[in-house]
Amino acid sequence: MTDSAAPTGSAKAAVLNEVDTPLQIRDDVTVAAPQEGEVRIKMVASGVCHSDLSVQNGTIPLATPLVLGHEGAGIVSEVGPGVADREVGDHVVLSWVPQCGECYFCQRDQGFLCEKNAAVSLAGMLDGTKRFSTPDGELGQMAYCGTFASEAIVPSISTVKIPKDVSLNAAALIGCGVLTGVGAAINTADIHEGDAVAVIGCGGVGLNVIQGARIAGAGTIIAVDMFDSKLELAREFGATDVVNASDGDPVAKVQELTGGRGADVSFEVIGLGPTIDQAINMARTGGEVVLVGVPRLDVMMNLNAAFTFLYTAKTIKGCWYGSANVDRDVPKMIEWYQKGELKLDELISREISVDEVNEAFEAMGSGEVARSVIVH
Ligand SMILES: [Zn+2]
Ligand SMILES: [Zn+2]
Repeated sequence: MTDSAAPTGSAKAAVLNEVDTPLQIRDDVTVAAPQEGEVRIKMVASGVCHSDLSVQNGTIPLATPLVLGHEGAGIVSEVGPGVADREVGDHVVLSWVPQCGECYFCQRDQGFLCEKNAAVSLAGMLDGTKRFSTPDGELGQMAYCGTFASEAIVPSISTVKIPKDVSLNAAALIGCGVLTGVGAAINTADIHEGDAVAVIGCGGVGLNVIQGARIAGAGTIIAVDMFDSKLELAREFGATDVVNASDGDPVAKVQELTGGRGADVSFEVIGLGPTIDQAINMARTGGEVVLVGVPRLDVMMNLNAAFTFLYTAKTIKGCWYGSANVDRDVPKMIEWYQKGELKLDELISREISVDEVNEAFEAMGSGEVARSVIVH
């Protein structure tokens, strides 16, 4: 056992005490021992994802107080009872959906819907109980992860083992943004060789949809965003054409770029009503629309049944966690990364300490960065 993998039982963490308040950095967080089926993780890196911001502002409702962070990678430092397939020193990517491999959904290759995820809104462990505490009381953890802490207890079925020669800073990003974005393109959507694809929203997840579409063989990849800086980045990730939505109607632009037909597959990666409408309208007759962005709970869709579904034969698909089977997809993505086919390092706009997490939220809220990565 190396020093870095030794169990300590105390952690520094970024805590959300209540919705719409800045995160509080605490260094007095006690981490209880792992229980049945759990492991202790020495967290090495955590991406700051838009969904963390969505918990902070209440778009995603979770019980507070809690430690945010759900996109991370680290080293197993202690193994709880009943865990046979993880050992101290293992490098792991955290998954924000535990995948049991045995439930109705896991048995049907829909591990992203695993029944073990049922207690997620309570922000504790699988049984709802908590492992983090401070002198002020217990703390929850986001999505059974809590990657904004220097160490955490997580269910072993929320971890995927990876080779030790892979950068944990890069691998951390696979846990959410990459699995979601690349997964949307390679799992959820049905992209054929040479297809024309449109992607609305080129943040951390959108860039991954773009590189997933490239890997899936799309011929034309149209990136849509309102920031030129993001559109530039989109080109680096595989966009063949870019549309700045502030310059005019993006639906008309996409039609113009696709011989008047519209995209074979369109992706909405923001979660707003108007951009969801655009995604539906820029898909061609018989085309596919994939909804990836997380909308507020009050966003409704008002669709014309005849012209959206029947006469135009469009398919609209919801995409949860990139329709991923993490045990299959994480190793595949590591392999693509090692071969240079999947960009991970390029997604990292800046590496920060956990003390700077509130600034990272502000940068993300203003649309400045692809990903800030906390290095613990
Ligand atoms: Zn399951
Ligand atoms: Zn995320």
